[in-house]
Amino acid sequence: MAPHARLVEVFSSIQGESELVGYRQIFLRFFGCNLHCDYCDSPEAHRAAEGPAWCRVEHTPGSSDCDRLSNPLSPADVCDAVARLNTVPHHSVSLTGGEPLIHALFLEALLPELRGLGLPVYLETNGTLPESLERVLEWVDFIGMDVKLPSVAGTDAASLLPRHQAFLTVARRRRVFVKIVVGAETPASEVDEAARMVAAVDRAIPLTLQPVTPFGGVARAPAPAKLLELQALALRFLETVRVIPQTHKMLNVR
Ligand code: SF4
Repeated sequence: MAPHARLVEVFSSIQGESELVGYRQIFLRFFGCNLHCDYCDSPEAHRAAEGPAWCRVEHTPGSSDCDRLSNPLSPADVCDAVARLNTVPHHSVSLTGGEPLIHALFLEALLPELRGLGLPVYLETNGTLPESLERVLEWVDFIGMDVKLPSVAGTDAASLLPRHQAFLTVARRRRVFVKIVVGAETPASEVDEAARMVAAVDRAIPLTLQPVTPFGGVARAPAPAKLLELQALALRFLETVRVIPQTHKMLNVR
C-alpha cells in the first residue's frame, strides 16, 4: 500500500515570504514538526497528539470553500486536490507545515506524481533533516530553508547550526535560499554566527531577514534601526540580504 500522510489543509493563495514572495501557489500544509519554536504561527500543524482527523481541501482556488477529507491522505488524494485547484495558473506547489520532511516516505511517493501535473515543487523547511532531504531532492525545484535563532525560536543553536549547515550543503544542489526570523531581543551575535554558517557553504545563497510577526504575545518585532543594523551585519558575509516581513499577514490572506 502507498504511504499515507496527515495534512492540515490544501489551498491556493499568495506566497507571503522570502524569495518567492507574491507568487501564486498551491499550499500543502503537512501535520507535525520536529521542533517547537516559540513564535510558531501554525500550532495546529504540530501540537495535537495524533494530528487532525480531517484535512481541509479548498475546491475553488482562493475562495476558502473547503471540503473535508479523512486523514491520512494518499498521494492520489493529494494530486486530485492539486489538479482541481490548478484551474488558475500557479507558479508552484508549496510543501509547508509543520515540517514536510518528517513525511519523507510519503513525499517519495507523492512528488513524482505531482511533478507529472507540470508544477514546480517548492519545499519550505526548518532545515534540520538533511538525510530526509537527500531522499526527495531530485523532485524539488526550490528550497526555502529557515535558520532558527535561539532568541526567537527558543531552540538550541549549539545543536541546530551544524544541522543547518549539513542541510544547506545538500540543498545547494537546487535553487536554495535562507530565511532568518529576527525579533526585538535578537542579539547581533546570533545573526553573525548564522550568516557566517551560510557563507561557509556559499556566500551567493540569498538571505531574507524576516521581522517576527507578534503571535500570542510571545514575540516582539525589532525596531527599524535594529533591522538595518542586522542587515548591514549579514551583508559583511553574504552577497544578497533582504528584509521582508510576512506579506500574507498584511494582505490578510492565508
Ligand atoms: S519549525 Fe516551523 S512549524 Fe515547526 S515549530 Fe518551528 S515555526 Fe512551527
